[in-house]
Amino acid sequence: MSLPSPAALADLLQGQLRGHPTVAPPRSVAIDSRRVLPGDLFFALSGRRRDGHAYVEAAETAGASVVVVRRSWARQRETPPASPGCAHLLVDDPLTALQQLAAWYRRSHIQRVVAITGSNGKTVVKSALTALLAGRYRVAASPGSWNSQVGVPLAVLTAPPGTELGVFEAGISAPGEMERLEAILAPDFGVLVNIGLAHLAGFGSRAVTAREKMKLFAGIGPQGWLIAPPDPLVEALPLPCRRLHPGVQPPRLLGQRPDGNGLLLDLDLGAGPMQVPVRTRSAPLVEDLLIALTAAIELGVPADELLAVLRDYSFGPTRMETWRTPEGITIINDTASDDPISVQAALDTVGASPETGRRLFVFGGMGELGASEAREHAFIGQLAAERGFSRLLLLPHPAQRHTAAGWARLHPETPALCVEDATALRSGIHELTRPGDTVLFKGAARQELSRAAQSIWESMAPRRLLVDLDAIRDNVSRFRSLCGPGVGILAVLKAWAYGTELARLATALQDSGIDWIGVSAADEGAAVRRAGVQRPVLVMLMDIDEVDKAVRWRLTPVVYSPAFAHALVTSLRSMGASLEVHLEIDTGMGRVGVSPDEALATARLLRESGVARLSGLMTHLASADDPAADADTDAQLRCFEAAVAAIRAEAEGPLLVHAAATSGAVRFPQARHDMVRIGLGLYGIHPSPAIEAAIELEPALAFVSRLVQVRRFKRGQRIGYNGTYQVSAKQQRIGIVAAGYNDGVPWSFGQGGEVMMQGQRLRVLGRVSMDSMAIDLDPLPGAAVGDEVLIFGAHEGQVLRPEQAARQAGTIPYDLLVRVDNRRVPRIFRGG
Ligand SMILES: *Cc1c(COP(=O)(O)O)cnc(C)c1O
Repeated sequence: MSLPSPAALADLLQGQLRGHPTVAPPRSVAIDSRRVLPGDLFFALSGRRRDGHAYVEAAETAGASVVVVRRSWARQRETPPASPGCAHLLVDDPLTALQQLAAWYRRSHIQRVVAITGSNGKTVVKSALTALLAGRYRVAASPGSWNSQVGVPLAVLTAPPGTELGVFEAGISAPGEMERLEAILAPDFGVLVNIGLAHLAGFGSRAVTAREKMKLFAGIGPQGWLIAPPDPLVEALPLPCRRLHPGVQPPRLLGQRPDGNGLLLDLDLGAGPMQVPVRTRSAPLVEDLLIALTAAIELGVPADELLAVLRDYSFGPTRMETWRTPEGITIINDTASDDPISVQAALDTVGASPETGRRLFVFGGMGELGASEAREHAFIGQLAAERGFSRLLLLPHPAQRHTAAGWARLHPETPALCVEDATALRSGIHELTRPGDTVLFKGAARQELSRAAQSIWESMAPRRLLVDLDAIRDNVSRFRSLCGPGVGILAVLKAWAYGTELARLATALQDSGIDWIGVSAADEGAAVRRAGVQRPVLVMLMDIDEVDKAVRWRLTPVVYSPAFAHALVTSLRSMGASLEVHLEIDTGMGRVGVSPDEALATARLLRESGVARLSGLMTHLASADDPAADADTDAQLRCFEAAVAAIRAEAEGPLLVHAAATSGAVRFPQARHDMVRIGLGLYGIHPSPAIEAAIELEPALAFVSRLVQVRRFKRGQRIGYNGTYQVSAKQQRIGIVAAGYNDGVPWSFGQGGEVMMQGQRLRVLGRVSMDSMAIDLDPLPGAAVGDEVLIFGAHEGQVLRPEQAARQAGTIPYDLLVRVDNRRVPRIFRGG
């Protein structure tokens, strides 16, 4: 972020400074005092529930350099801030000031803007468009669905200076709001996804909704365009720019057919028909994708690049997310929006799907419909019946009886089933479903619905790896407070984010304010960019043949040998491109990196090349987890510091210096430098007992499965391959767990491994098989088929530390995690 100095800010926002302003511009913008870092600009916004002025002191204590407050509030408070380097900026309204700052930033640092609005599908179009553009432009997009009066300015302010295309969402719920968003975004291009009935209570009619939304595009000039549906309400409103209707120009959808869990589209992207696989079967999602493609084609992205992105594009979570349970039940979780149009679209899609089983509809109702609430709810009930659903389950909602009445018109014999809560819903679904059935979850009460969908899924899938995104965020905060505000955090997401899921982790971490992302390969970096992540991405072990990918996806490669440096410079020159790079110095790890005596010459080579801009220096510590080797670590750090000093002495310019991974960050404060690179610690796992003793982390993963058989064996009977375990008691209850070494259970669990049920540790008996293993159930006489078994991690109050499981298996936690098989063990995310 490049913000004006406090004095210039006061001019820009027509405010007065009080206290002790610094000369230096603020670092970045914060509206939550808990996230203020030293040097930040804090806006005291008044929300519905809280007034930010109550947190001014907290922001000052956290080191804010400028706090923007209301004049009337400042008048009542006698003393301006006392601490040096902190000033108050008095304005009429802090929210207006935030919006003015964003409008200034938009004009100073972002070349062009695509603005997206509509009743639903905005986020889908934005994410897809960002992915399609990311290889060609420096794009920045709104994080998550930041589209409100506060969200839009914050989204604009997170775009890095030099952004070529900003892709931003705008959402409104009352007349008058769009003008303010338009003033901030000043769009060059526009997308109106649709005009639904969302927020009808705020507008009164669709015509008013259309008129209000179109205000976003009022300033687009004749060189610009607007993509909008051919809706008479939209056509009637005058605009100076070109209008494009999806489907009239490329892309044209020529045909489609089911393909695995997704569809194979016959698409003309402007270069003749092509087959394009997409990972969804949802008609509305395909429509949103076509809108994004229309925009990308207009912005000059060629067909082959579009195809390359589409091949592995996956849509964000909870938008027609389709899960197939091993029992053959399909669960469609589409709880991201509850507008009547999106409910109708979901019913249409599922109704038209080629699945042969029965269809169940779980509905949580719709919000904010004003006078049309009863009518719209009755219509949805009737439509579900018309689209061939055989059962309707309703969660509590004020208009519940209208939906039930609409349904009863066609299905008087099977009335809608009204369930109290997620638990009742879960048991209702268990009773009603059979293999081959499809269950659609839709509507308001999203949390309840999502939770129910997830818990049903969990109760049906025998093996799964649960990933708790809230715990991961919590661990990031713990590293932040450990290392202090001056130290950046790079999240190491190599090996597909330690076997979890790269894109999901990268976006969740970006939303929680991570500074850098680190990966091993250029393709992993590209996947992070396609997920819409804007943070800098360090590629630690890039192939030298992949320089074009690094340029295209704006990755920062690590130069790890003099040969790499030479080849990189040659490639960049021949491409006419340039890149920022970091240089790795091998100070004793004995892996990659230039040796300390090559470091200076390599740095010089890069600097003098004019194409590789040296912006960081790193090393990697070999034994920071082991107190017995602290002398070696100290020697590595001294060697690194000497090399850094020599390189610094030769040329000016900022260099980001980093050495520590999880262990180094925890045990060696002097190794934290400007940034730490955290991998294993993100998941709440300690690399060694010495780390465990030094920091408490929140376990974020759980590998669980189920009992598929419980039997009594008699004395002398042998268990499993080679009969390595023999029953010695008169009899023993033994359970078979549906998880084996093919799923990622270490084979060596056959010698002393343990799992957990109901908080109780249970021994693994005999050898681990490919798909199963035997466990001792004598300590748990109540255990029965279907009960959950925790193989490692934290789940429902029980903890079986992965560190310990790894020790028992004779390996390290890193190895344990990446072994959990990707195809057989679905990843399920919580929080987030
Ligand atoms: C894997 C790796 C890390 C992260 O290590 P953790 O122990 O998982 O925190 C950091 N830096 C480099 C160079 C790595 O290879």
